[in-house]
Amino acid sequence: MSSATSIVPSLIGKNWEKIKTKEYTKVYNPASGKVISNTPMLTSTEVSKAIKFAKIAFPEWSKEPPTRRASIMHNYRSLLKQNFNEIAELISTENGKTIIEARGDIQRGFEVVEYACGIAEHQKGESLSQVAENIDGITVREPIGVCAGISPFNFPAMVPMWMFPIAIACGNTFVLKPSEKVPLTAVRLVELLQEAGLPDGVMNLVHGGKEVVDTLCTHPDISAISFVGSSTIAKYVYKLGSSNGKRVQAGGAAKNALVVMPDADPDSTLRAVMSASFGCAGQRCMAGSLLIGVGEIAKPLKEKLIDAMNNLKVGAPLLDPNINMGPVIDKISQDRITTIIDNVSKEVNLDRDGRDLIKNDGFFVGPTLFSNVLPDTSIFKQEVFGPVLSMMNPKDLSQAISWINQLNYGNGSSIFTQSGAAAKEFKSKIKCGMIGINVGVPAPMSMFPFSGWNDSFYGDLHMQGNEGVQFYTRQKVTLSRWDNTYDNKSGW
Ligand code: NAD
Repeated sequence: MSSATSIVPSLIGKNWEKIKTKEYTKVYNPASGKVISNTPMLTSTEVSKAIKFAKIAFPEWSKEPPTRRASIMHNYRSLLKQNFNEIAELISTENGKTIIEARGDIQRGFEVVEYACGIAEHQKGESLSQVAENIDGITVREPIGVCAGISPFNFPAMVPMWMFPIAIACGNTFVLKPSEKVPLTAVRLVELLQEAGLPDGVMNLVHGGKEVVDTLCTHPDISAISFVGSSTIAKYVYKLGSSNGKRVQAGGAAKNALVVMPDADPDSTLRAVMSASFGCAGQRCMAGSLLIGVGEIAKPLKEKLIDAMNNLKVGAPLLDPNINMGPVIDKISQDRITTIIDNVSKEVNLDRDGRDLIKNDGFFVGPTLFSNVLPDTSIFKQEVFGPVLSMMNPKDLSQAISWINQLNYGNGSSIFTQSGAAAKEFKSKIKCGMIGINVGVPAPMSMFPFSGWNDSFYGDLHMQGNEGVQFYTRQKVTLSRWDNTYDNKSGW
Protein backbone atom coordinates (compact mmCIF):
# COMPACT_ATOMS: atom_id res chain seq x y z
CA MET A 1 0.00 0.00 0.00
CA SER A 2 1.28 3.43 -0.90
CA SER A 3 1.71 5.63 2.17
CA ALA A 4 0.55 8.65 0.16
CA THR A 5 -2.95 7.24 -0.17
CA SER A 6 -5.52 6.54 2.48
CA ILE A 7 -7.38 3.53 3.85
CA VAL A 8 -11.12 3.45 3.14
CA PRO A 9 -13.01 3.65 6.47
CA SER A 10 -15.46 1.00 7.70
CA LEU A 11 -18.46 1.65 9.96
CA ILE A 12 -18.60 -0.92 12.72
CA GLY A 13 -21.41 -0.03 15.12
CA LYS A 14 -21.14 3.70 15.71
CA ASN A 15 -17.44 4.14 14.94
CA TRP A 16 -15.80 4.85 11.64
CA GLU A 17 -12.49 2.98 11.64
CA LYS A 18 -9.57 2.93 9.22
CA ILE A 19 -8.84 -0.73 9.84
CA LYS A 20 -5.31 -1.90 9.06
CA THR A 21 -5.25 -5.32 7.42
CA LYS A 22 -2.73 -7.62 5.77
CA GLU A 23 -4.22 -7.10 2.32
CA TYR A 24 -5.57 -4.06 0.47
CA THR A 25 -7.20 -3.60 -2.94
CA LYS A 26 -6.18 -0.46 -4.80
CA VAL A 27 -8.98 1.95 -5.69
CA TYR A 28 -8.23 3.67 -9.01
CA ASN A 29 -9.46 6.67 -10.86
CA PRO A 30 -10.02 4.62 -14.05
CA ALA A 31 -9.76 7.72 -16.21
CA SER A 32 -6.17 8.41 -15.11
CA GLY A 33 -5.09 4.97 -13.92
CA LYS A 34 -3.90 6.59 -10.65
CA VAL A 35 -4.50 5.02 -7.23
CA ILE A 36 -6.83 7.18 -5.11
CA SER A 37 -7.35 5.01 -2.04
CA ASN A 38 -6.93 1.52 -0.60
CA THR A 39 -9.72 -0.83 0.40
CA PRO A 40 -8.83 -2.90 3.46
CA MET A 41 -9.68 -6.57 2.92
CA LEU A 42 -11.33 -7.23 6.27
CA THR A 43 -11.36 -10.63 7.92
CA SER A 44 -14.25 -12.52 9.46
CA THR A 45 -13.29 -11.10 12.90
CA GLU A 46 -14.13 -7.53 11.91
CA VAL A 47 -17.22 -8.58 9.95
CA SER A 48 -18.50 -10.57 12.93
CA LYS A 49 -18.10 -7.42 15.06
CA ALA A 50 -20.26 -5.45 12.60
CA ILE A 51 -22.89 -8.22 12.61
CA LYS A 52 -22.89 -8.15 16.42
CA PHE A 53 -23.62 -4.41 16.48
CA ALA A 54 -26.39 -4.88 13.91
CA LYS A 55 -27.87 -7.67 16.04
CA ILE A 56 -27.79 -5.50 19.18
CA ALA A 57 -29.49 -2.62 17.32
CA PHE A 58 -32.28 -4.79 15.85
CA PRO A 59 -34.73 -5.11 18.81
CA GLU A 60 -35.03 -1.34 19.33
CA TRP A 61 -35.04 -0.39 15.66
CA SER A 62 -37.60 -3.03 14.68
CA LYS A 63 -39.96 -1.64 17.35
CA GLU A 64 -39.84 1.91 15.98
CA PRO A 65 -43.15 2.97 14.40
CA PRO A 66 -43.07 3.01 10.59
CA THR A 67 -43.65 6.76 10.58
CA ARG A 68 -40.40 7.27 12.54
CA ARG A 69 -38.49 4.96 10.17
CA ALA A 70 -40.02 6.87 7.26
CA SER A 71 -39.06 10.23 8.75
CA ILE A 72 -35.39 9.17 8.76
CA MET A 73 -35.77 8.21 5.10
CA HIS A 74 -37.25 11.68 4.45
CA ASN A 75 -34.19 13.27 6.13
CA TYR A 76 -31.95 11.01 4.07
CA ARG A 77 -33.74 12.02 0.88
CA SER A 78 -33.10 15.72 1.65
CA LEU A 79 -29.42 15.08 2.41
CA LEU A 80 -28.97 13.10 -0.81
CA LYS A 81 -30.55 15.95 -2.72
CA GLN A 82 -28.23 18.51 -1.11
CA ASN A 83 -25.17 16.35 -1.85
CA PHE A 84 -26.29 15.05 -5.26
CA ASN A 85 -23.56 16.68 -7.35
CA GLU A 86 -20.79 15.80 -4.93
CA ILE A 87 -21.87 12.11 -4.93
CA ALA A 88 -22.11 12.09 -8.74
CA GLU A 89 -18.55 13.42 -8.94
CA LEU A 90 -17.36 10.75 -6.50
CA ILE A 91 -19.03 8.02 -8.60
CA SER A 92 -17.39 9.36 -11.74
CA THR A 93 -14.00 9.55 -10.00
CA GLU A 94 -13.88 5.97 -8.75
CA ASN A 95 -15.95 4.27 -11.48
CA GLY A 96 -15.09 6.32 -14.57
CA LYS A 97 -18.63 6.88 -15.87
CA THR A 98 -19.65 10.28 -17.25
CA ILE A 99 -21.26 12.84 -14.96
CA ILE A 100 -24.64 12.38 -16.69
CA GLU A 101 -24.38 8.62 -16.11
CA ALA A 102 -23.23 9.16 -12.53
CA ARG A 103 -26.24 11.41 -11.92
CA GLY A 104 -28.46 8.65 -13.31
CA ASP A 105 -26.77 6.18 -10.95
CA ILE A 106 -27.56 8.24 -7.85
CA GLN A 107 -31.00 9.26 -9.18
CA ARG A 108 -32.14 5.62 -9.42
CA GLY A 109 -30.96 5.01 -5.85
CA PHE A 110 -32.63 8.24 -4.74
CA GLU A 111 -35.94 6.98 -6.13
CA VAL A 112 -35.66 3.84 -3.98
CA VAL A 113 -35.25 6.11 -0.94
CA GLU A 114 -38.39 7.96 -2.05
CA TYR A 115 -40.19 4.61 -2.25
CA ALA A 116 -38.89 3.77 1.25
CA CYS A 117 -40.36 7.08 2.53
CA GLY A 118 -43.77 5.47 1.93
CA ILE A 119 -42.95 2.40 4.01
CA ALA A 120 -45.98 2.80 6.29
CA GLU A 121 -48.15 2.18 3.24
CA HIS A 122 -45.97 -0.50 1.61
CA GLN A 123 -45.52 -2.60 4.75
CA LYS A 124 -49.23 -2.76 5.57
CA GLY A 125 -50.74 -6.19 6.05
CA GLU A 126 -54.22 -7.39 5.17
CA SER A 127 -57.30 -8.15 7.18
CA LEU A 128 -60.51 -10.01 6.59
CA SER A 129 -63.25 -10.41 9.14
CA GLN A 130 -65.36 -13.54 9.61
CA VAL A 131 -62.86 -15.83 7.83
CA ALA A 132 -64.66 -18.56 9.79
CA GLU A 133 -67.54 -18.27 12.21
CA ASN A 134 -66.72 -15.41 14.65
CA ILE A 135 -63.08 -15.45 13.58
CA ASP A 136 -61.20 -12.51 12.10
CA GLY A 137 -57.89 -12.80 10.26
CA ILE A 138 -55.06 -10.29 9.90
CA THR A 139 -51.56 -10.42 8.47
CA VAL A 140 -48.63 -8.25 9.51
CA ARG A 141 -45.24 -7.93 7.82
CA GLU A 142 -42.45 -8.11 10.38
CA PRO A 143 -38.77 -7.33 9.76
CA ILE A 144 -36.51 -10.38 9.61
CA GLY A 145 -33.34 -9.31 11.48
CA VAL A 146 -29.83 -8.49 10.29
CA CYS A 147 -29.65 -8.30 6.49
CA ALA A 148 -26.51 -8.12 4.35
CA GLY A 149 -25.89 -6.45 0.99
CA ILE A 150 -23.02 -7.32 -1.38
CA SER A 151 -22.68 -5.14 -4.47
CA PRO A 152 -20.71 -4.90 -7.76
CA PHE A 153 -18.52 -2.09 -9.12
CA ASN A 154 -20.68 -0.86 -11.98
CA PHE A 155 -23.37 1.07 -10.08
CA PRO A 156 -21.67 2.31 -6.89
CA ALA A 157 -24.83 4.09 -5.67
CA MET A 158 -27.87 2.51 -7.34
CA VAL A 159 -27.20 -1.15 -6.55
CA PRO A 160 -26.48 -0.76 -2.80
CA MET A 161 -29.54 1.52 -2.71
CA TRP A 162 -31.74 -1.20 -4.20
CA MET A 163 -31.00 -2.92 -0.90
CA PHE A 164 -30.44 -0.97 2.31
CA PRO A 165 -33.14 1.76 2.15
CA ILE A 166 -35.96 -0.80 1.90
CA ALA A 167 -34.37 -3.23 4.38
CA ILE A 168 -33.88 -0.49 6.98
CA ALA A 169 -37.24 1.17 6.36
CA CYS A 170 -38.87 -2.23 7.00
CA GLY A 171 -37.24 -2.32 10.48
CA ASN A 172 -34.18 -4.48 9.77
CA THR A 173 -30.56 -3.68 10.52
CA PHE A 174 -27.92 -3.93 7.82
CA VAL A 175 -24.32 -4.79 6.95
CA LEU A 176 -23.22 -3.52 3.52
CA LYS A 177 -20.17 -4.80 1.64
CA PRO A 178 -19.70 -2.71 -1.50
CA SER A 179 -17.35 -3.65 -4.33
CA GLU A 180 -13.76 -3.26 -3.17
CA LYS A 181 -13.15 -1.39 -6.46
CA VAL A 182 -15.62 1.46 -5.70
CA PRO A 183 -15.95 1.76 -1.90
CA LEU A 184 -15.86 5.57 -1.62
CA THR A 185 -19.41 6.23 -2.83
CA ALA A 186 -20.71 3.71 -0.28
CA VAL A 187 -18.82 5.52 2.50
CA ARG A 188 -20.52 8.80 1.57
CA LEU A 189 -23.97 7.18 1.28
CA VAL A 190 -23.59 5.67 4.75
CA GLU A 191 -22.24 8.90 6.30
CA LEU A 192 -25.36 10.70 5.08
CA LEU A 193 -27.58 7.97 6.49
CA GLN A 194 -25.98 8.52 9.91
CA GLU A 195 -26.47 12.27 9.48
CA ALA A 196 -30.14 11.61 8.73
CA GLY A 197 -30.52 10.37 12.31
CA LEU A 198 -30.28 6.60 11.97
CA PRO A 199 -29.50 5.06 15.39
CA ASP A 200 -26.04 3.54 15.91
CA GLY A 201 -25.60 -0.03 14.72
CA VAL A 202 -28.59 -0.05 12.35
CA MET A 203 -26.24 0.44 9.37
CA ASN A 204 -22.72 -1.00 9.16
CA LEU A 205 -20.21 -0.84 6.34
CA VAL A 206 -17.50 -3.45 5.83
CA HIS A 207 -14.98 -3.90 3.01
CA GLY A 208 -13.24 -6.80 1.38
CA GLY A 209 -13.77 -9.82 -0.82
CA LYS A 210 -14.36 -13.56 -0.50
CA GLU A 211 -13.68 -13.86 3.24
CA VAL A 212 -16.21 -11.11 4.02
CA VAL A 213 -18.80 -12.58 1.66
CA ASP A 214 -18.32 -16.08 3.09
CA THR A 215 -18.73 -14.75 6.62
CA LEU A 216 -21.96 -12.95 5.70
CA CYS A 217 -23.32 -16.08 3.97
CA THR A 218 -22.59 -18.41 6.88
CA HIS A 219 -22.91 -16.30 10.05
CA PRO A 220 -25.81 -17.52 12.22
CA ASP A 221 -26.97 -13.96 12.96
CA ILE A 222 -27.54 -12.97 9.33
CA SER A 223 -31.13 -13.52 8.16
CA ALA A 224 -31.02 -12.42 4.53
CA ILE A 225 -28.51 -11.66 1.79
CA SER A 226 -28.94 -9.42 -1.23
CA PHE A 227 -26.21 -9.94 -3.80
CA VAL A 228 -25.54 -8.38 -7.21
CA GLY A 229 -22.55 -9.28 -9.39
CA SER A 230 -21.37 -11.90 -11.88
CA SER A 231 -23.41 -15.09 -12.26
CA THR A 232 -20.67 -17.40 -10.96
CA ILE A 233 -20.52 -15.54 -7.65
CA ALA A 234 -24.31 -14.97 -7.60
CA LYS A 235 -24.87 -18.72 -7.82
CA TYR A 236 -22.18 -19.37 -5.20
CA VAL A 237 -23.71 -16.83 -2.78
CA TYR A 238 -27.20 -18.21 -3.42
CA LYS A 239 -26.10 -21.78 -2.65
CA LEU A 240 -23.92 -20.91 0.36
CA GLY A 241 -26.44 -18.51 1.88
CA SER A 242 -29.52 -20.65 1.37
CA SER A 243 -27.79 -23.82 2.59
CA ASN A 244 -27.06 -21.86 5.76
CA GLY A 245 -30.74 -21.07 6.21
CA LYS A 246 -30.79 -17.52 4.85
CA ARG A 247 -33.09 -15.83 2.40
CA VAL A 248 -31.08 -14.94 -0.68
CA GLN A 249 -31.76 -12.77 -3.70
CA ALA A 250 -28.83 -12.80 -6.12
CA GLY A 251 -28.65 -10.87 -9.40
CA GLY A 252 -26.10 -12.09 -11.97
CA ALA A 253 -24.69 -11.36 -15.41
CA ALA A 254 -26.58 -10.74 -18.66
CA LYS A 255 -26.59 -10.65 -22.45
CA ASN A 256 -29.31 -8.32 -23.66
CA ALA A 257 -30.68 -8.15 -27.19
CA LEU A 258 -31.95 -5.09 -29.07
CA VAL A 259 -34.18 -6.07 -32.00
CA VAL A 260 -34.60 -3.46 -34.74
CA MET A 261 -37.52 -4.08 -37.12
CA PRO A 262 -37.47 -2.59 -40.66
CA ASP A 263 -40.25 -0.13 -39.70
CA ALA A 264 -38.38 1.30 -36.66
CA ASP A 265 -37.79 5.04 -36.55
CA PRO A 266 -34.16 5.25 -37.74
CA ASP A 267 -32.82 8.23 -35.78
CA SER A 268 -34.54 7.60 -32.51
CA THR A 269 -33.60 3.90 -32.65
CA LEU A 270 -29.96 4.68 -33.40
CA ARG A 271 -29.74 7.00 -30.39
CA ALA A 272 -31.35 4.38 -28.14
CA VAL A 273 -28.98 1.66 -29.42
CA MET A 274 -25.87 3.84 -28.95
CA SER A 275 -26.89 4.73 -25.42
CA ALA A 276 -27.87 1.15 -24.46
CA SER A 277 -24.67 -0.36 -25.87
CA PHE A 278 -21.99 2.20 -25.03
CA GLY A 279 -23.49 4.00 -22.01
CA CYS A 280 -21.33 3.33 -18.92
CA ALA A 281 -18.77 1.90 -21.41
CA GLY A 282 -21.02 -1.14 -21.78
CA GLN A 283 -20.61 -1.99 -18.08
CA ARG A 284 -24.31 -2.39 -17.33
CA CYS A 285 -26.19 -5.59 -16.62
CA MET A 286 -28.86 -4.09 -18.92
CA ALA A 287 -26.38 -3.08 -21.65
CA GLY A 288 -27.56 -3.87 -25.16
CA SER A 289 -24.83 -6.21 -26.38
CA LEU A 290 -26.59 -8.04 -29.24
CA LEU A 291 -28.02 -5.85 -31.97
CA ILE A 292 -30.48 -7.78 -34.07
CA GLY A 293 -31.29 -6.00 -37.32
CA VAL A 294 -34.21 -7.90 -38.86
CA GLY A 295 -34.16 -8.37 -42.65
CA GLU A 296 -33.15 -5.44 -44.86
CA ILE A 297 -32.68 -2.95 -41.98
CA ALA A 298 -29.35 -4.52 -40.94
CA LYS A 299 -27.19 -2.97 -43.67
CA PRO A 300 -28.26 0.73 -43.32
CA LEU A 301 -28.35 0.34 -39.54
CA LYS A 302 -24.75 -0.88 -39.49
CA GLU A 303 -23.57 2.03 -41.65
CA LYS A 304 -25.24 4.63 -39.43
CA LEU A 305 -23.97 2.88 -36.33
CA ILE A 306 -20.32 2.87 -37.42
CA ASP A 307 -20.64 6.55 -38.18
CA ALA A 308 -22.06 7.26 -34.73
CA MET A 309 -19.38 5.09 -33.07
CA ASN A 310 -16.64 7.00 -34.87
CA ASN A 311 -18.11 10.23 -33.51
CA LEU A 312 -18.39 9.01 -29.93
CA LYS A 313 -16.10 11.14 -27.76
CA VAL A 314 -14.18 8.83 -25.44
CA GLY A 315 -12.07 10.25 -22.60
CA ALA A 316 -11.78 11.33 -18.98
CA PRO A 317 -15.28 12.54 -18.00
CA LEU A 318 -14.27 14.92 -15.23
CA LEU A 319 -11.81 16.75 -17.48
CA ASP A 320 -14.27 17.39 -20.31
CA PRO A 321 -18.08 17.60 -19.91
CA ASN A 322 -18.56 16.71 -23.60
CA ILE A 323 -17.17 13.20 -23.16
CA ASN A 324 -19.75 10.57 -24.21
CA MET A 325 -17.97 7.49 -22.91
CA GLY A 326 -15.49 6.98 -20.07
CA PRO A 327 -13.00 4.18 -19.37
CA VAL A 328 -13.66 0.65 -18.12
CA ILE A 329 -13.07 -0.05 -14.46
CA ASP A 330 -9.48 -1.34 -14.37
CA LYS A 331 -6.54 -2.81 -16.25
CA ILE A 332 -7.83 -6.35 -15.65
CA SER A 333 -11.11 -5.46 -17.40
CA GLN A 334 -9.30 -3.63 -20.19
CA ASP A 335 -7.06 -6.65 -20.83
CA ARG A 336 -9.98 -9.09 -20.61
CA ILE A 337 -12.00 -7.08 -23.17
CA THR A 338 -9.10 -6.71 -25.59
CA THR A 339 -8.42 -10.45 -25.38
CA ILE A 340 -12.09 -11.09 -26.25
CA ILE A 341 -11.77 -8.73 -29.24
CA ASP A 342 -8.57 -10.54 -30.33
CA ASN A 343 -10.27 -13.93 -30.20
CA VAL A 344 -13.70 -13.06 -31.60
CA SER A 345 -12.21 -11.13 -34.54
CA LYS A 346 -10.82 -14.47 -35.76
CA GLU A 347 -14.37 -15.85 -35.88
CA VAL A 348 -16.67 -13.06 -37.17
CA ASN A 349 -16.40 -9.67 -38.94
CA LEU A 350 -14.78 -6.89 -36.92
CA ASP A 351 -16.38 -3.68 -38.28
CA ARG A 352 -15.03 -1.25 -35.71
CA ASP A 353 -12.05 -1.99 -33.50
CA GLY A 354 -12.02 -0.36 -30.04
CA ARG A 355 -8.41 -1.38 -29.45
CA ASP A 356 -7.46 1.85 -31.26
CA LEU A 357 -8.19 3.84 -28.09
CA ILE A 358 -5.94 1.96 -25.69
CA LYS A 359 -3.68 4.54 -24.01
CA ASN A 360 -1.09 4.42 -21.28
CA ASP A 361 -3.04 6.59 -18.87
CA GLY A 362 -6.52 5.37 -17.97
CA PHE A 363 -8.27 2.12 -18.77
CA PHE A 364 -9.90 2.99 -22.10
CA VAL A 365 -11.38 0.73 -24.75
CA GLY A 366 -13.09 2.26 -27.77
CA PRO A 367 -16.49 1.25 -29.12
CA THR A 368 -16.28 -2.07 -30.95
CA LEU A 369 -18.63 -3.68 -33.46
CA PHE A 370 -18.79 -7.26 -34.69
CA SER A 371 -21.20 -8.45 -37.36
CA ASN A 372 -22.31 -11.74 -38.93
CA VAL A 373 -22.70 -13.14 -35.44
CA LEU A 374 -24.72 -16.37 -35.21
CA PRO A 375 -26.01 -18.32 -32.20
CA ASP A 376 -23.13 -20.80 -32.50
CA THR A 377 -20.36 -18.15 -32.42
CA SER A 378 -18.59 -17.71 -29.07
CA ILE A 379 -19.54 -14.04 -28.58
CA PHE A 380 -23.28 -14.81 -28.77
CA LYS A 381 -23.67 -16.06 -25.19
CA GLN A 382 -20.69 -14.39 -23.55
CA GLU A 383 -21.12 -11.29 -21.37
CA VAL A 384 -18.27 -8.93 -22.36
CA PHE A 385 -19.12 -6.13 -19.91
CA GLY A 386 -17.41 -3.53 -22.06
CA PRO A 387 -18.15 -1.35 -25.12
CA VAL A 388 -18.52 -4.27 -27.52
CA LEU A 389 -21.63 -4.74 -29.67
CA SER A 390 -22.38 -7.79 -31.82
CA MET A 391 -24.74 -7.60 -34.80
CA MET A 392 -26.99 -10.39 -36.03
CA ASN A 393 -29.22 -10.44 -39.09
CA PRO A 394 -32.17 -12.85 -38.86
CA LYS A 395 -34.62 -13.05 -41.74
CA ASP A 396 -37.68 -12.27 -39.61
CA LEU A 397 -38.97 -11.63 -36.08
CA SER A 398 -39.61 -15.34 -35.42
CA GLN A 399 -35.98 -16.17 -36.10
CA ALA A 400 -34.86 -13.24 -33.91
CA ILE A 401 -37.02 -14.49 -31.03
CA SER A 402 -35.80 -18.08 -31.39
CA TRP A 403 -32.17 -16.88 -31.30
CA ILE A 404 -32.70 -14.67 -28.24
CA ASN A 405 -34.43 -17.50 -26.39
CA GLN A 406 -31.26 -19.60 -26.74
CA LEU A 407 -29.42 -17.24 -24.35
CA ASN A 408 -28.78 -18.53 -20.82
CA TYR A 409 -29.28 -15.15 -19.22
CA GLY A 410 -32.61 -13.38 -18.79
CA ASN A 411 -32.34 -9.71 -17.82
CA GLY A 412 -33.54 -7.46 -20.67
CA SER A 413 -34.59 -7.48 -24.30
CA SER A 414 -35.91 -4.62 -26.42
CA ILE A 415 -37.71 -4.24 -29.72
CA PHE A 416 -37.80 -1.14 -31.92
CA THR A 417 -40.83 -1.01 -34.17
CA GLN A 418 -43.92 0.98 -35.13
CA SER A 419 -46.02 -2.21 -35.16
CA GLY A 420 -48.15 -3.04 -32.12
CA ALA A 421 -48.53 -6.60 -33.40
CA ALA A 422 -44.75 -7.15 -33.61
CA ALA A 423 -44.27 -5.62 -30.15
CA LYS A 424 -47.00 -7.85 -28.69
CA GLU A 425 -45.54 -11.00 -30.23
CA PHE A 426 -42.08 -10.04 -28.93
CA LYS A 427 -43.12 -9.30 -25.38
CA SER A 428 -45.17 -12.46 -25.06
CA LYS A 429 -42.59 -14.87 -26.53
CA ILE A 430 -39.27 -13.57 -25.16
CA LYS A 431 -37.99 -15.49 -22.16
CA CYS A 432 -36.54 -12.77 -19.99
CA GLY A 433 -37.79 -10.55 -17.20
CA MET A 434 -37.50 -6.95 -18.47
CA ILE A 435 -38.84 -5.97 -21.89
CA GLY A 436 -38.38 -2.68 -23.74
CA ILE A 437 -40.63 -1.48 -26.54
CA ASN A 438 -38.79 1.40 -28.21
CA VAL A 439 -36.84 1.65 -24.92
CA GLY A 440 -33.14 0.73 -25.05
CA VAL A 441 -32.54 0.06 -21.36
CA PRO A 442 -35.77 -1.24 -19.81
CA ALA A 443 -34.42 -1.06 -16.24
CA PRO A 444 -37.49 -0.76 -14.01
CA MET A 445 -38.02 2.22 -11.70
CA SER A 446 -38.17 1.81 -7.93
CA MET A 447 -41.85 0.81 -7.73
CA PHE A 448 -41.24 -2.26 -9.95
CA PRO A 449 -39.03 -5.28 -9.32
CA PHE A 450 -35.67 -5.52 -11.11
CA SER A 451 -36.87 -8.70 -12.63
CA GLY A 452 -34.01 -10.89 -13.96
CA TRP A 453 -34.71 -14.48 -15.06
CA ASN A 454 -32.64 -17.61 -15.74
CA ASP A 455 -28.89 -17.22 -15.00
CA SER A 456 -29.38 -13.49 -14.40
CA PHE A 457 -31.12 -14.11 -11.08
CA TYR A 458 -31.11 -16.73 -8.34
CA GLY A 459 -33.90 -16.55 -5.79
CA ASP A 460 -37.62 -15.83 -5.69
CA LEU A 461 -38.14 -12.20 -4.70
CA HIS A 462 -36.33 -9.52 -6.69
CA MET A 463 -34.92 -6.20 -5.51
CA GLN A 464 -37.06 -3.01 -5.50
CA GLY A 465 -40.78 -2.39 -5.25
CA ASN A 466 -43.22 -4.66 -3.53
CA GLU A 467 -40.97 -7.70 -3.99
CA GLY A 468 -38.24 -5.83 -2.10
CA VAL A 469 -40.61 -5.26 0.84
CA GLN A 470 -41.66 -8.91 0.77
CA PHE A 471 -38.02 -10.03 0.74
CA TYR A 472 -37.12 -7.97 3.82
CA THR A 473 -40.21 -8.95 5.85
CA ARG A 474 -42.00 -12.10 6.86
CA GLN A 475 -45.71 -12.44 7.35
CA LYS A 476 -47.49 -13.36 10.52
CA VAL A 477 -51.13 -14.39 10.27
CA THR A 478 -53.30 -13.99 13.35
CA LEU A 479 -56.76 -15.51 13.68
CA SER A 480 -58.78 -14.22 16.60
CA ARG A 481 -62.20 -14.69 18.16
CA TRP A 482 -63.65 -12.86 21.14
CA ASP A 483 -67.14 -14.33 21.57
CA ASN A 484 -66.31 -17.08 24.13
CA THR A 485 -68.83 -19.42 22.57
CA TYR A 486 -66.77 -22.37 21.32
CA ASP A 487 -69.17 -25.21 20.46
CA ASN A 488 -69.23 -28.20 22.75
CA LYS A 489 -69.04 -30.81 20.01
CA SER A 490 -66.76 -33.42 21.54
CA GLY A 491 -68.14 -33.71 25.00
CA TRP A 492 -65.63 -31.41 26.71
P1 NAD B 1 -18.22 -9.65 -9.18
O1 NAD B 1 -19.05 -10.88 -9.18
O2 NAD B 1 -16.76 -9.77 -9.48
O3 NAD B 1 -18.29 -8.94 -7.72
C1 NAD B 1 -19.52 -8.70 -7.10
C2 NAD B 1 -19.32 -8.80 -5.58
O4 NAD B 1 -18.87 -10.11 -5.27
C3 NAD B 1 -18.24 -7.82 -5.08
O5 NAD B 1 -18.69 -7.23 -3.89
C4 NAD B 1 -17.03 -8.72 -4.86
O6 NAD B 1 -16.21 -8.29 -3.81
C5 NAD B 1 -17.65 -10.06 -4.52
N1 NAD B 1 -16.81 -11.19 -4.93
C6 NAD B 1 -15.93 -11.22 -5.98
N2 NAD B 1 -15.33 -12.43 -6.06
C7 NAD B 1 -15.83 -13.18 -5.05
C8 NAD B 1 -15.62 -14.53 -4.60
N3 NAD B 1 -14.74 -15.34 -5.22
N4 NAD B 1 -16.32 -14.97 -3.56
C9 NAD B 1 -17.21 -14.17 -2.93
N5 NAD B 1 -17.45 -12.88 -3.30
C10 NAD B 1 -16.78 -12.39 -4.34
O7 NAD B 1 -18.94 -8.60 -10.14
P2 NAD B 1 -18.41 -7.18 -10.62
O8 NAD B 1 -17.31 -7.38 -11.60
O9 NAD B 1 -18.18 -6.28 -9.46
O10 NAD B 1 -19.72 -6.63 -11.38
C11 NAD B 1 -20.02 -6.93 -12.71
C12 NAD B 1 -21.05 -8.03 -12.82
O11 NAD B 1 -22.22 -7.69 -12.09
C13 NAD B 1 -21.50 -8.25 -14.25
O12 NAD B 1 -21.56 -9.63 -14.53
C14 NAD B 1 -22.90 -7.62 -14.29
O13 NAD B 1 -23.76 -8.15 -15.27
C15 NAD B 1 -23.37 -7.92 -12.92
N6 NAD B 1 -24.47 -7.05 -12.51
C16 NAD B 1 -25.71 -7.60 -12.43
C17 NAD B 1 -26.80 -6.81 -12.08
C18 NAD B 1 -28.17 -7.42 -11.97
O14 NAD B 1 -29.05 -6.78 -11.45
N7 NAD B 1 -28.39 -8.62 -12.43
C19 NAD B 1 -26.61 -5.44 -11.83
C20 NAD B 1 -25.32 -4.91 -11.92
C21 NAD B 1 -24.25 -5.73 -12.27
